[in-house]
Amino acid sequence: MHKYYICPECKGHIMVGDYIIFTARNQKKESGLLLLHPNIGNYDSIKHPSFKFKAGEMLEFCCPLCTSCLVSGFDKKLVHVIMVDKDSQEYDIYFSRIAGEKSTYKISGESSSVMSTGEHSHRYTYFKMPDNMQKFLHKD
Ligand SMILES: [Zn+2]
Repeated sequence: MHKYYICPECKGHIMVGDYIIFTARNQKKESGLLLLHPNIGNYDSIKHPSFKFKAGEMLEFCCPLCTSCLVSGFDKKLVHVIMVDKDSQEYDIYFSRIAGEKSTYKISGESSSVMSTGEHSHRYTYFKMPDNMQKFLHKD
């Protein structure tokens, strides 16, 4: 299935080859490129060994093109990117900024349906998601 990811700020393509590319920053404000797998639920990531962070550390995820840091509007612990699938349908994707935390949400703009994935996704079940979306929240 062909899909791609774009930055919500500049609409630039942040998926190149097989990975989504971010400029990440750890809590010491050190920067490094962080590559995330585009399949939702796959938490594989690639980075240079010189860029270090610990499990539980909150990272900043910034667009490598426009340098905007991609924080969700409703919960600053979540990153927001846009996925476009092969039918040109756009989805809002949110995932945790906390290293090691596996929480991803895929929200379809048209139907307002929410798909949550990851063993820690329950942590955000009651976050400030609008009520009309919460009722669609379900485990896939
Ligand atoms: Zn951007």
